Amino acid sequence: MRLDTDPYLERYASRVRGMSASAIRALFAVASRPEIVSFAGGNPAVEALDFAAVEDVVRQVVRDAGATALQYGVGQGRAELREHLAAVMGQEGITAHADDLIVTHGGQQGLELIASCFVDPGDIVIAEGPTYVGGIGALTSCQADVRHVAMDDHGMQVDQLEDLLQQLQREGRRAKYIYTIPNHQNPGGVSLSVERRHRLAELAEQHDVMVLEDNPYGLLDFAGKVYPSILELIPDRTIYVGTVSKTFAPGVRTGWIAAPAPVRDKLVLLREAADLCPSSLTQMVVETWFASQPWREQVEAFRDVYRVKAEAMLTALDTEMPDGVTWTRPSGAFYVWMTVPSGIDTDDLAAKALGRRVAFVPGRGFYADGSGGHQLRLCYSQPSPERIREGVTRLGELLHDELELVRAVYGAAGVPQLRSRRTDEAAPGGSASGQERG
Ligand code: PMP
Repeated sequence: MRLDTDPYLERYASRVRGMSASAIRALFAVASRPEIVSFAGGNPAVEALDFAAVEDVVRQVVRDAGATALQYGVGQGRAELREHLAAVMGQEGITAHADDLIVTHGGQQGLELIASCFVDPGDIVIAEGPTYVGGIGALTSCQADVRHVAMDDHGMQVDQLEDLLQQLQREGRRAKYIYTIPNHQNPGGVSLSVERRHRLAELAEQHDVMVLEDNPYGLLDFAGKVYPSILELIPDRTIYVGTVSKTFAPGVRTGWIAAPAPVRDKLVLLREAADLCPSSLTQMVVETWFASQPWREQVEAFRDVYRVKAEAMLTALDTEMPDGVTWTRPSGAFYVWMTVPSGIDTDDLAAKALGRRVAFVPGRGFYADGSGGHQLRLCYSQPSPERIREGVTRLGELLHDELELVRAVYGAAGVPQLRSRRTDEAAPGGSASGQERG
């Protein structure tokens, strides 16, 4: 008989012992069935790429520079590629120097290297709540003590950040860094307002804290708007992570870090310990893509795809969702963050939703502290607008039924947080925000 306990458990490093596959992984397996409208995975719409052009680029790399492309490279990554990545940052008004960049295997490796570089077990890292699952993974694998700061429609609530920083100061502690995804946040679907960016930068200076700015979605604003980067505001205390996953393709696993020179040198050493160097082949594919293809037009094409899908989703949500359910209204990228009345647990709801042939990611995975049980993420990047409408209708029906059940059990008054969406919209400064404020 097979025992479920892991016979190697005692042998693992303490940082690994608590790790387990999330329920999300099992959910993805089911969510990929064709009959299910999946709002679960955060996959970009790579089908909008010109595959013939990609094929030409790959052929060209192997044909013209195969011996280099199939060889080891340098730990910092190819200088030619770093030049292009600095130009990509320039699109968002950031002045970056190729020397300050390190090419990584996706933004994810950047997040992991930075956590390994700065976080000892028990160190405090401040992050938005909710925040990116992979960002939490990188932090918890280093045994960070993650403290969340709530968001609203304008991103991280910097007054709460200030309270937290002051509290830490009173305790004689200092956070290692503030992890923020300021543009079209995953999973929040909101961006940090310009005013708050300045305040965050001021607070970081005042409290002598570093900032990790994770920016996969900055070029995906539906109106082409770009926000000031934290890196531009406080370059000496910001480490920036970028990726081509959303502007080109995640399959090439190419991202980068921009860091002050001493940090950059440490990160290169760490990366050499992890994987020696980035893949020469994919670096050269990306480099050739940027050098030979109309990549700016491609980014605009991605934006257009997501804009149409976002409109389909928001219109459907407006008509299909029962009162008491709230959500954010993204102006870029591909996430909607939803809050349901607290009588409904989104882990349970996710299982029931699969029965109704619709999938989403329940909210708990987006917090390090176990909150998020009444929240969920909807990603609209993959299904067609028609399927999006279908999926939202299915979810709306489920929520109507669940709410009826909750009301039958607790009575309408007994359901905490059960407010009308319309009341929410009338709230000061508020739209139909789905952010947890506590
Ligand atoms: N940061 C955020 C906020 C993300 O959403 C993602 C991917 N979904 C990443 C980093 C990492 O992406 P990649 O490793 O593909 O560059």
